[in-house]
Amino acid sequence: MKVAIRFLDVSFSYEQVSVLDKASFHVHEGEFAAIVGQNGSGKTTVLKLIMGLERPSGGQVEVLGGSAYAARPHVGYVPQLPAYDPSFPVSVRDVVRMGVLHGLTEKRGARATVDRALERADVSDLADRPYAALSGGQRRRVLVARALASEPRLLVLDEPTANMDAASENRLYKVLGELKGSTTIVVVTHDTGFVSDLTDAVLCVGDRAGTGRSIVRHTAEPAEHAPPELYGGKAKRVLHDVSVPDPGRCKECSE
Ligand code: ADP
Repeated sequence: MKVAIRFLDVSFSYEQVSVLDKASFHVHEGEFAAIVGQNGSGKTTVLKLIMGLERPSGGQVEVLGGSAYAARPHVGYVPQLPAYDPSFPVSVRDVVRMGVLHGLTEKRGARATVDRALERADVSDLADRPYAALSGGQRRRVLVARALASEPRLLVLDEPTANMDAASENRLYKVLGELKGSTTIVVVTHDTGFVSDLTDAVLCVGDRAGTGRSIVRHTAEPAEHAPPELYGGKAKRVLHDVSVPDPGRCKECSE
């Protein structure tokens, strides 16, 4: 399998604050990876490294077969819900069109691209509504559509279901389930107990006491008794006591 993201012995510090110490892991193309960890553990920092917004102080970050910086045009980012001025008069379609403009060139066929992104994120019915009139859950799907408008190979979502009601969460996970396979998906969550049942790889940041902050791959098992409102109704329980060795490559990797 081709590798979408590979960290090899990656270290990173903000001046005096050491965040990562020789972290290694990898995610195959088309996989759904959950990055879990307590607040302040370094999840956002891992995202910044993946998106080429920070550079490691040691080791190597590879994204889509090259540097994180080179991969940027192929990475779609769904932020936590940004503060938003409700009087700013844009429609849903305008917001999604910004995703096409993000690549700086408005491609021919942009309207078709926007329509397809609206459809894939399950928000076509909202296209002509004012963005300000939407619920938090609807806005989040619109931001997914905006990210999809650049036709990314890798989609990164930061805490996608924070403050979302169960119905919206279900719809969002259905959208992600349909993208999985053709798009690599990385979701960050501070919920260290459960992940979506779409998850192929659980990467836990900074949970190994005494060895500096590394990233440990855990397995997850179907959680029969998970609260039904979690992760689109189906969740896996993270087995923190089972660590899977991940030196950045595995026998399934094709080079
Ligand atoms: P998380 O996303 O898991 O909450 P972060 O990656 O934001 O964690 O932060 C990891 C650690 O780095 C925290 O201790 C945080 O205080 C620190 N940190 C984050 N950003 C900066 C920065 N720009 N300068 C200094 N320290 C930072």
